Amino acid sequence: MQVFNSLTRRNEELTPLADNTIRLYTCGPTVYNFAHIGNFRAYTFEDVLRRVIKFNGMKIKQVMNLTDVDDKTIKGANAAGVALTDYTKTYKDAFFADLKALNIEPAEVYPAATDHIPEMIALVQTLVDKGIAYQSEDGSVYFNVRKFPGYGRLAHIDFDNQRTGARCRGDEYDKENVGDFALWKAWEPSDGPVGWDSPWGRGRPGWHIECSAMSMKYLGPTFDLHTGGIDNLFPHHENEIAQAEAATGQPFVKTWMHCAHLRVNGEKMSKSLGNFYTLRDLLDKGWTGREIRYVLINAHYRSGLNFAFSALEDARKALARVDAAVEKATPGAAPDWAREHLDDFIKAVNDDLGLPNAFAALFALVRDTNAHGGGPVLDVFKRMDEVLGVIFFGRAEKAAIPADIQQLLDARAAARAAKNWAESDRLRGEIAARGWTVKDSRDGQTCTKA
Ligand code: AMP
Ligand code: ZN
Repeated sequence: MQVFNSLTRRNEELTPLADNTIRLYTCGPTVYNFAHIGNFRAYTFEDVLRRVIKFNGMKIKQVMNLTDVDDKTIKGANAAGVALTDYTKTYKDAFFADLKALNIEPAEVYPAATDHIPEMIALVQTLVDKGIAYQSEDGSVYFNVRKFPGYGRLAHIDFDNQRTGARCRGDEYDKENVGDFALWKAWEPSDGPVGWDSPWGRGRPGWHIECSAMSMKYLGPTFDLHTGGIDNLFPHHENEIAQAEAATGQPFVKTWMHCAHLRVNGEKMSKSLGNFYTLRDLLDKGWTGREIRYVLINAHYRSGLNFAFSALEDARKALARVDAAVEKATPGAAPDWAREHLDDFIKAVNDDLGLPNAFAALFALVRDTNAHGGGPVLDVFKRMDEVLGVIFFGRAEKAAIPADIQQLLDARAAARAAKNWAESDRLRGEIAARGWTVKDSRDGQTCTKA
């Protein structure tokens, strides 16, 4: 499995550092609002990544943090006049419901920043003890970027000629305004009731230190893989590397991967520009989670993707074609023509998550399944869906019931409609004798192989 590493800017083989397990850290949501589908482009990309890792027989330990204290959450909670934890809980709950709707597999750990303040303070203390961080006049603690020679390696920028020497208290700034960045922010009146005691007085962690502390706590000082949207690359990920490596003296992360933005009319979809749709907006308009997932994962993750409703319409049609073909598919050993499409699919996903080519292989399978009027290709669809997570198998499973069993089921349904319970029980026994189990529910009979 090859992936493009943002750090080396090359395709590289992804092989676990230890235990056949990929240790993956994914920057999670800032829970101050409902996540928009731009955010979900990042989370679906990471979901496909984790599925392809498992598809290749590796194990995974994924950590996704919840940023529940930062400039934005504090501002939101104080404006609403509610406690920070109450304010963020609404959006945490909504986030997990949204993940389900998009068929995103859960991560192994979801650490919340507010549960890890001691770990963050300890990491800042290490940096202060090493002389890399210092406390400024206002009480905040800053990372001295001149003390970390590797600074700028991820963003591929030589900062020596650009460094302004300014300090940045805000979490976000651009490459032209690099300066010492905040590790611990001294309390100020706009923080209201939010704050923790520390060796540097009352305050709160900066956003960047949150991820360094939580990733190393759960994945160790050196781990395999770290991802996020491309906007996270600088300064957030650059600062994560600086904080971690300056503290431990060890390499932090082997491979970095970043997805391109979801855009609207050529601009990044974002809360601040106001050009966003939340997942809820689209579900309310009648689109389904799998249609939205299909649109988000259909483009290559490193290519720009422009959001348009016509793409959702196309997704609906495409998925209907897949459903119709899957309905004709039966279990059993796949024929050569189907295995070839699976081989193409495997090649595509292992080439830096080449989902456009993977979908092409899926549709070639759909086309040939239709041309053959069906065939034992159900397992091929299932194998592809381990990565894609968009195929509906309910009807195929029903369709896989053999004709003689179906006849008995129909006779049994008629007997039950006539309240002939003795005949119904006799037919259940007959079906069981042929290796199938029938169950009754409000919606009628369901039948599975025993
Ligand atoms: P945030 O909640 O702003 O910290 O963002 C959470 C994740 O969504 C990060 O990995 C961001 O890089 C990513 N993200 C934000 N906006 C977009 C977008 N328009 N397209 C793709 N990813 C995005
Ligand atoms: Zn992060």
